[in-house]
Amino acid sequence: MSKSIVVCKFGGGTLATREDFARAARIINAKPERVIAVVSAVQGVTDRLVRGIEESRKSEGHAKVFAEDFSAFHKKIADIPEIDMLTQKLESALFNAYASHNPRLSDYVLSFGERASAALLGHFLGKGSKVFDSESVGIISNGIYGNASCDVEKTQENFRTALEAAKDAKSIVITGFYGVDQNGNVNIFGRGGSDYSAGVVTAVSGASRLELYKDVDGFLAADPRMVKSPQLLEQLSFDEASELGYFGAKIIHPRTFDPISGADVCVQIRPVAKPDTVGTMICEHGQKMHVAAIASRKGVSLVEIYGGGMVNSFGVAAEVFTRMSRNHISVDAIATSQTNISFTIDQPSSLRASQALEALSLERPDVVWVFKVSDHQAMVSVVGGALSAEAISRAMLCLYKAKVGIKMTSYGASKISFSAIIELADEQKAVAALYSEFFGNGKAPKKAVAPVAKAVAAKKTKSKKSK
Ligand code: ASP
Ligand code: MG
Repeated sequence: MSKSIVVCKFGGGTLATREDFARAARIINAKPERVIAVVSAVQGVTDRLVRGIEESRKSEGHAKVFAEDFSAFHKKIADIPEIDMLTQKLESALFNAYASHNPRLSDYVLSFGERASAALLGHFLGKGSKVFDSESVGIISNGIYGNASCDVEKTQENFRTALEAAKDAKSIVITGFYGVDQNGNVNIFGRGGSDYSAGVVTAVSGASRLELYKDVDGFLAADPRMVKSPQLLEQLSFDEASELGYFGAKIIHPRTFDPISGADVCVQIRPVAKPDTVGTMICEHGQKMHVAAIASRKGVSLVEIYGGGMVNSFGVAAEVFTRMSRNHISVDAIATSQTNISFTIDQPSSLRASQALEALSLERPDVVWVFKVSDHQAMVSVVGGALSAEAISRAMLCLYKAKVGIKMTSYGASKISFSAIIELADEQKAVAALYSEFFGNGKAPKKAVAPVAKAVAAKKTKSKKSK
């Protein structure tokens, strides 16, 4: 039987210095399994590349300055010839960015952080290791610039061939963050997308485990900037972790689990400083919690639309959401009543939303009487895979007692979170109150009641049978 495979992903926060790379190599080499390492860019490099593109658009001379800096920065970690090759390509790409707004070029430039860190890790791993970029291993993306997804099936075919070619390598290093579409164009998977790459690589390699090395201990029950020493969450289910990924936690890219759903692998968040410990263990059908964590998100705007035409008429919501979609505004939580439609959007879209609704109220005064777009809102949520009615009513009462005004609530859809839209100024107060309600005084979060565990067990046996 061939040796089992483990995918180890190293985040940018764990790759800043020469010592960090040496440590990552030690972690990989100490594994009894065959390791496929997926890397992020060196800490801060993607942000630098974002700024590098902006500056290069404005100034023709910036490409050269930026490339020199890129080279010197990485050579401090290790002076290897690959950095020179990458620097040359980066410089000419940035040179072409002058006076242009080309998303294809941006995604290509943004991929250079991962290209450099993969080469560096390969150097620290030494001879027994083989480095692939996403092109050479054939990670196929869907052609969407800035926030692509992967075509897992096509990637799997390519991957088999690549792995076969590298069958003598003890370890393999692959660039995270981007794939290439059918025409060979680079598409990034969105910021923080290397986690998603690691999910893809885990799925297509048939690995038994995905280990994500981070510069934090694991998922916490609340944001440590808002709550003093929140509890570490030792176990989460995929849906709980990806729900938390959508909030400010930034611990994991929310789409990481998509490619491995149904694959029977668990994801471990490991603190890089204590690599033998698992901070948070995330399994698809892990024990679901009544309340796993308190999460919140800033930068939310609330849109409220009132109109008499809504009563007993049809197509109003469709009209409103079509306008949002036409203006590339992503709608998050939604609530409706007979005379009102309310929903949240990200604050950067709020001006466009106002303009679109202004136009709609002129064209269809029968539908939209008044509308209001309020910025500086926050969404505070109670997240749990087995969220109960009791937990929701406790959350509402707790916010009421803390004198936090609720403007809208959202529960339903996935039944995995209950969210309240509140003033941004109340965010910290709300998070702290909810944390102490559910986790305070050393209280352990409640585990789900038996019926949920039973349902999961039943689902498992069913899916086994159907195989
Ligand atoms: N380097 C990319 C970023 O900073 C991808 C990642 O770190 O996952 O967004
Ligand atoms: Mg990162």
